[in-house]
Amino acid sequence: MSQNNARWLLQQGRIQLAQAGIEEGALESRILLEYLLGVSREQLLLREMDPVTPEVEERFFTLLAHRKDHMPLQYLVENAWFWGRPFYVSEAVLIPRPDTEILVEAALQFHQEEPVRVMADICTGSGCIPITLALEGVGFCYGTDISEAALSVARKNTKNLGAEKQTAFLVGDLCTALQGKEPMDLITANPPYIPTDEVAKLMPEVRDYEPQLALDGGQDGLDFYRRLIPQSRTYLRPKGALMMEIGASQAAAVKEEMERSGFRQVKVLQDLAGRDRVVIGRIECDAG
Ligand code: GLN
Repeated sequence: MSQNNARWLLQQGRIQLAQAGIEEGALESRILLEYLLGVSREQLLLREMDPVTPEVEERFFTLLAHRKDHMPLQYLVENAWFWGRPFYVSEAVLIPRPDTEILVEAALQFHQEEPVRVMADICTGSGCIPITLALEGVGFCYGTDISEAALSVARKNTKNLGAEKQTAFLVGDLCTALQGKEPMDLITANPPYIPTDEVAKLMPEVRDYEPQLALDGGQDGLDFYRRLIPQSRTYLRPKGALMMEIGASQAAAVKEEMERSGFRQVKVLQDLAGRDRVVIGRIECDAG
């Protein structure tokens, strides 16, 4: 029986994904096949005319079927890139977004001005924020999450990326997992912030596959900020900073909440598309 080659599979992938309305079908089918064969882009190019086994062909069409159902590519290949590093992802965690790199950039900027010895990332999910910060030289980074399943993904990532000695992952609701730890120089968070009614309107990749627990921020999307902002004061050192990712329309409300809770120098940062994306504030006096 003659076997099909990689080039033919790629062509099938491109056609099927285009028919399902997936943009970038050619690129995505290449990424799926590279994943199945365990090869790099260059290696696949060299092997395009080689026959593939019926098992690979079958698995490729299974992956294509999931992708046509809008399962995110990152879950299919169990990988998402963040700050230039590969993170393992499963459906237990939100897929790291480029938007969140704005938060990392702000944290690194803060660290340059005032060295961060110890920090915590709340609602850490895959652990992409604390692991990146640890690898970029920020002292010790905790990650907390209410989901044990998410934390096992984060622990796998810290091991894979070699940040185990500089990170620890703790289960608990928001900051409560930090009870008994030293006061933090910095707290970061990318909490769930999509208003409940809007979750249903998100693209199917997000709505049907990413954890609701990581997306749904309550009626107006601000539930977690209302709890986290006042609570974080207890866990920050005097002059410590709180930095959070926000939805594009939430800056004014979150800034107000921070000022009401006694944060000073509250600033809003924009993402590359010019949308409000991060709010930062500092504790001026002793939190007591
Ligand atoms: N930025 C994500 C999205 O738009 C949501 C992330 C979150 O709720 N923290 O899908």
